[in-house]
Amino acid sequence: MPASSYIIALGSNRRGRHGSPRAEVHAALAAIGGVRAWSRVHETAPLGPSIRRFANAVAWIDSDETPGALLVRLKAIERAFGRRRGQRWGARVIDLDIVLWSGGCQVAPGLVVPHPRYRERRFVLAPLAEIAPHWRDPVTGRATLPLLHAVDRRRPCA
Ligand code: AMP
Repeated sequence: MPASSYIIALGSNRRGRHGSPRAEVHAALAAIGGVRAWSRVHETAPLGPSIRRFANAVAWIDSDETPGALLVRLKAIERAFGRRRGQRWGARVIDLDIVLWSGGCQVAPGLVVPHPRYRERRFVLAPLAEIAPHWRDPVTGRATLPLLHAVDRRRPCA
């Protein structure tokens, strides 16, 4: 049995060598491996000045890696997919974040788990509700569904 489960958020809003943002998300799922469950790919309006739409999904993976080792591997996949650092909200072939870990919390240089912004991000919570509606945030004690409902109450037209 793998030691840990993780929730990974995947996002793309730029065509890469695999094709559309949606194809980049599917290719990244295959590259990550160990995927136990995955959500639909959600098409989301961009948050920042970029005019491109995002393709977002989340995956539940099983892994023996520590959170730090997994992050190093995710960053290597981002680089292999041609992601360039720079504009925070700009176009990106693939963005991979560790959202949740079965081990609870982890704070290390360059790594905070649970991801500090996932509770406000509908583009993470909505796909997460498909595969892990009852996964409890170890910081607030709130499960995915109540977190999603709270975001929807705050932004009824989003
Ligand atoms: P991003 O622009 O989303 O790729 O994030 C930039 C940096 O956030 C990464 O290089 C990581 O060092 C850091 N980071 C901190 N916590 C996390 C996390 N839970 N998942 C992914 N990246 C993280």
